[in-house]
This record gives sequence, C-alpha cells and structure tokens, in this order.
Amino acid sequence: MFTASTPDLPGLRVLIQGLGLFGGGVGAARYLAKAGARVTVTDIKTAAQLAESVRALEGLPIEFHLGGHREADLDACDLLLISPAVPADNPFLLEAVRRGIPVETELNLFVKTCRAPILGITGSNGKTTTTAMVEAATRRMDGPTWLPAAPGVFGRPRQVWVGGNIGRSLLPNLPDIRPDDAVVLEISSFQLENLAAIGRFPAAGLVTNLQPNHLDRHGTMEAYGEAKKQILRGHGAVGIVNAECPVVGKWSGIAANSLTFARKAGVGRGACLDGGWIAISDSGDGYPILPAGALRIPGLFNVENALAAACASWVLGATKDGIAEGFAEFRGCEHRLESFGTWGGVTWINDSIATNPDSTLAALRTLSQPLILVLGGHDKGLPFEDLARAVSSRCRSVVLLGAATDKIGRALEAAGCTLPVDSARDLREAVAMSAARARSGDAVLLSPACASFDQFRNFEDRGKQFKQFAAEVMSGRAVAEEMMASAPRTATA
Ligand code: ADP
Repeated sequence: MFTASTPDLPGLRVLIQGLGLFGGGVGAARYLAKAGARVTVTDIKTAAQLAESVRALEGLPIEFHLGGHREADLDACDLLLISPAVPADNPFLLEAVRRGIPVETELNLFVKTCRAPILGITGSNGKTTTTAMVEAATRRMDGPTWLPAAPGVFGRPRQVWVGGNIGRSLLPNLPDIRPDDAVVLEISSFQLENLAAIGRFPAAGLVTNLQPNHLDRHGTMEAYGEAKKQILRGHGAVGIVNAECPVVGKWSGIAANSLTFARKAGVGRGACLDGGWIAISDSGDGYPILPAGALRIPGLFNVENALAAACASWVLGATKDGIAEGFAEFRGCEHRLESFGTWGGVTWINDSIATNPDSTLAALRTLSQPLILVLGGHDKGLPFEDLARAVSSRCRSVVLLGAATDKIGRALEAAGCTLPVDSARDLREAVAMSAARARSGDAVLLSPACASFDQFRNFEDRGKQFKQFAAEVMSGRAVAEEMMASAPRTATA
C-alpha cells in the first residue's frame, strides 16, 4: 500500500485523510500545496471542530471536504495521504487501496525526502518530554564539547531540527534542512510500522520504555514491541535503550551501535546517574553533566527522561555545557505536571495529559505538597478504586467535574473517603472551588484521570482553559486583596 519512491508533487492530486489538531495534517497540507500539488483535505470531524487547523491553512489553495469522507473524492485522487490516526482497516482507506491509489503518510514522506540524518524517539511513556529535553540540550551547539566522540553519523551538526509527534510537522521546513543538519523526531508505534513498510529506518533510535498501551490496535504486547523495535533496525544505526526497562533492556544489541541509559552507574556505554549526577559514560570513563537535583521537572521518571535525552544529545554532538544549560532551564512540557503559577503561596499545576487513573496515580506519587485535586471528565470505562484509595490518603480535598462525577464519587465513598468533595458544573467553577479550598503551601492539581471529550476539544484545550481560569481567578483575587489592603479603613465600633 505504501510506496518507497518519492512522489513528483507539482500537479499531483493529493487527498489528505485526517487533518486533525496536532499539527501533522496541517504541516503536510501546507508543504504539499506550496510544492504545487492540488490538495483536498477530508476529515470525519466538522469545520467547527477543526477550526484551528483550517485557520492555519488560510490563504493556501486547498479544498476542504469536512464532516465525513466522500468516495467521489477518490475518483480524482493520485495519492492518498493518511493521518496516523487512520487504522489499517478503515473502509475509506481500504477503498483507496482497492482502487490501486498509492498511500503516503506525513512521516514517510518526510523521512523519504529529508537530506539530514534522523534520530527517532519512541516508547510507551516519556517520548514528548525526552524529545523536548533533547531540543533544549541542542539549542546551543557551539563551544568546546568536553565529551568524547559519540558513535554514529551525526558529527557536529550545523542545526538540530525537532518535530514529529511532539506536535510539529517538519515537512514545511524540508527546503531549509541541509545534509549537515540533524533531525530529531518523536515517532509513535503506528508511524514506525509505516516506515518499516517502506524499509526506511532512522540513523539513530531511542526507546524510552515499553508498557501495555495501544493493545486495542496492535493486538498483543509482542506485536506492539515488534513495532517499537523497528526504530533500532537502521543500517549501522545507533540504538539507545532503557537498561532498566524489563522489555526494552533486552533490546540492547539489536542496533549496530548499542547505547543504554540507567538510573545507576556501571551499566554500560551511554548515560547514567553517577553519584547523583547525570553523566555520559564511555569506555569506562564518566563525564558528569549536571546534578539530577538541578532539574526543574519533578519525579524519578523525569530523571529517566533526562538520562535518555542526555544520551541522545551526546549522539547528536551536543556539548556538555549545552546539555547542562538546556536541562537546567527546562521547565517541562505543557499539560504534563506543568507548574504554571503560584498565587498566595498556592502552586497551580496542569496535568491535563492524565487521561487515565494510572497517570493521575503517578502524579500523586510524584508531588509532595498537600493537594486540592480536580478530577473527572469523560469516563473511559476504567476502574477508579485504586485511585480513590490513593486520593483519600494523599489529598486535602477533591473537586469532581464532568460525566464521570457519579462514578468517581461512588468509588471515593467505597474507599471510605472523608475528604471534602465538591462537584463543579464546569471547569471555571472547579477552579473557583479549588481556590476557595486552597491554603498557602498547597497545590491545586488538575489531573483528571479521564478523557476530555465531554466538555473540551482535547486534553490541550482542557489544560489551556484551566490555566486561563486559574490566572483570571487568582489575579482577580490578588487585585481585590491589594485593593482591600490599600482601601481606607472605616473605624468600627
Ligand atoms: P508521551 O509523549 O510518551 O505520551 P510524555 O513525555 O508526554 O510522554 O509524558 C506523559 C506522562 O507520562 C507524564 O505526565 C507522566 O505521567 C508519564 N511519564 C513520562 N515519562 C515517563 C517515564 N519515563 N516513565 C513512566 N511514565 C512517564
């Protein structure tokens, strides 16, 4: 179904199936239209649901057929470009394949056309954070390295470009990416399968870890693992794996040049934690970069992400100072345990990415402050019992929100929860209720353990609204408190 050849774009009639809101569809549409292809975009979502992405393409000669797919669009189609969200058994895609229409993906097209070597980052958890940390560490590539030469083809690139699943398509940047640059891509398991189908593999691959995930689509853990393994199969590739992950640790040796990262010293060539320092280790020598305590992102799992990113940055030719400065300044990714403000001694934290109970449990384990927890949303049918027990012992109060309110309420009751529990009609009210409960030293944490689709477009929309409401309520309150403090006092009897 996928083609290994690079399409000749001018005049080509390209149908994009799945515009989405995460940047890939928009990047592909912009690149193709600018390259002279005749682009039509189709999506099952409506124009209103996709407003942001449609707006981003304003002014380009692109036709939009939204709110469903029409088979007639396949009549005038030379190439179908599918979003990673389109499964292999999608009827529209199957019809295109039946008609013999070549199929392309945004990432396949990028990898086929890109002239610079690519380092791919995949895994079940920590992909985005690791990728963003590599970006921070490779922003400044000048100055002495103070590190031994790393294996692989990267040398000392002129510039490091970062994109992929992190929400940024690099297709529009292709004309500016030179052979002496380097590219870092966050890649999902679906995208890896598609790359393997055309026999393309990155020059270096990193796997953060492997946990049960996406089994609905891959079927078994073996099939899921097999998809992830593809990132290590490039000819003469550098493979970076998590030595402490029971599954991925065994993949050391698949790539021609195998490196590992681990939260202890003496594991092998790569990155390790040595005397509390994030360090590169090579041929038995250690090169300390910065103390793990200097990281601004919480949790042991983020130390793991930093080690992974340090190893990848070393392979990319980053300098010791560049990595140290990049890591010390890195404040985390949006919507992932993101501390976005402190008002009156209360820290506000946005963890809107937590769309299942396990992610919220991880947040509760990671944070140390007394918590006001905002919980709830669209129920994915997962059990809340373990979470309810953890919430009861770990939080100061709970604000419930959205369609799962009753189910979570029952789980809290069954867990013998004696905390104050408020039910909010919407997120704005949840913010106001949290603000009323919080005292100096507390943190208000949005970590909903549920999907966002009952009241929001996606988890990003939910997180952004949370930050906006919190800033409005808290800055309004600060202004009000200031006014009260400076107001002339009336003598009372
Ligand atoms: P991904 O891009 O793989 O979804 P992110 O970096 O966006 O991962 O992190 C999402 C959430 O996954 C975090 O908020 C945290 O709860 C969890 N997480 C991140 N890194 C790790 C890790 N190394 N191990 C386990 N869980 C992690």
